[in-house]
This record gives sequence, structure tokens and C-alpha cells, in this order.
Amino acid sequence: MDSAKARRIRVGVLLAVLAAVLAYAALDRHRRLRRKEWLEPLPIALVVLRRGQVDDDAIAALRSRLPALEAQLGAELQRHRATAMRPFSFVFHGPVDVAAGAPLPDGFGAWELVVNTYRRWRYTRSVDAAAGVGGGYASRIYLVVKPGDGGGQLTIEGTSELNGRVGMVEVELDRGMVDFALFVVTHELLHTLGASDKYDASGHARVPDGLADPTQTPLYPQARAEVMARNRPLGGGVEKPPSRLSELAVGELTAREIGWRK
Ligand SMILES: [Zn+2]
Repeated sequence: MDSAKARRIRVGVLLAVLAAVLAYAALDRHRRLRRKEWLEPLPIALVVLRRGQVDDDAIAALRSRLPALEAQLGAELQRHRATAMRPFSFVFHGPVDVAAGAPLPDGFGAWELVVNTYRRWRYTRSVDAAAGVGGGYASRIYLVVKPGDGGGQLTIEGTSELNGRVGMVEVELDRGMVDFALFVVTHELLHTLGASDKYDASGHARVPDGLADPTQTPLYPQARAEVMARNRPLGGGVEKPPSRLSELAVGELTAREIGWRK
């Protein structure tokens, strides 16, 4: 084959691949936006990954509290629009034993982002296979549970793709942390649907968007915690993490960002 012809074929193949990638990206974007129409409950996978010796009762409680979380989010949706629908339908997967948590980025450059996206994809693909997580979920939230370090202070942290499909939460889990862990799962889930954080640089709830009820009088202590602000402000810069799902509120700006309000 002469080299000009070979080059034409190579360019043709590259253009076909590019066209396929662009078509897929457009279709995926369309599907991700459709999640915010709220015509039916979104199927969400909660994939529990276990690192070390974690109390079995606490893991069982994570599963058994999912209907209460669905009901709480249904009640919150009704504050923003007239519907009896529950916005989410959770499916519990796992626990799958893992040696390491999800990979974290080494930096914030474009290259680190690409590498981390690939590492995460590889990580979630392998745990999905182990946990039997199929396709068809609107979002998948991976909850890494590990035992506390015995210091009495339990920690929780999460990272998610804004408007993506994958959220990650890592928590030192015991029985008392179950509802709070599901609160943070919801925080990460709403990030995947386009919700932004509602706390300031010092970690405090922003006023008014980070308050569950900005019209409450007196304003403090707030009765509930806005899900994207994370904590319940008590006044005077003091905040308390929520301990019950009944404290979970979806504020007005968050509701707009995820399409619950126009
Ligand atoms: Zn966040």
C-alpha cells in the first residue's frame, strides 16, 4: 500500500473514532441531564466496601435504614414540588472486602485528573464485578467502611464528580454513625446531580443557602441540617453534625440545582 493511501485510512479511522466518542459523550450528557427531570425514582446503587474489621450490625443497619432515607428524601421533595413520588430508589450492594480505598488524585493538573479518572474507573470496575453491580443506575455511591482507630473521634469524608455518576465516601463506621454515614452518602449523591457545597472556607454553613430553614425565628439553633452544608448550625459559629436522618433537609438552592424546583 502506498503511504498516501495508508495515511488516508489512518486519518479516516481516527475521525470515525472521534465521531463515536463525541456521539457517546452527547448521549451520556443527555442521559445525565434527564436524571433531573424527576419523572420516576432514580435507581441508585449504594456499594459498601469493607476495609478491616467492621461491626456486622452496623453494616446491616446501613441497609435497613435505606427505606427511612428514601422516605426522608421523599418528604423533602414534597416541600419543593407537588408530588407523592420518592425521588430515589436505593439498591444495596456488598459488603465487598477491599485492601484499599478509592484512589485519590496526586494533584490538581489536567494530567493528574486524567490519571485519577482512569484509576477510579479501574477501581470501581473491579468492585462492581465483585459486588454484582450491574448497569442502569443513575448514580453509584461507594461507601468505604473501616473501623475507628480507637481514639474516640470518628471521621468521614467524601469526594464526587459534579454532574457525574460516581460518588465516594469513606467512614469509620460504628452503630452510632449509620445515619450520619447515610447523610454524607446523600451529600455525595446530590453532588453527582449538580448540587454545590453550601459551606464557607472555614467549614461553616453559608447563610442563607446552607440553612435548612432560613426563615426560622429565632434563626438559631437550626432544627435540621442542610444536606450540602453538612452540619446543623446552633448559633455563634457552633455547628453539630446530624445524627439522625430526620435532621436531613434539602434547602432551596440545592433543590434548584438538582431540578426539584424551577
Ligand atoms: Zn461536598
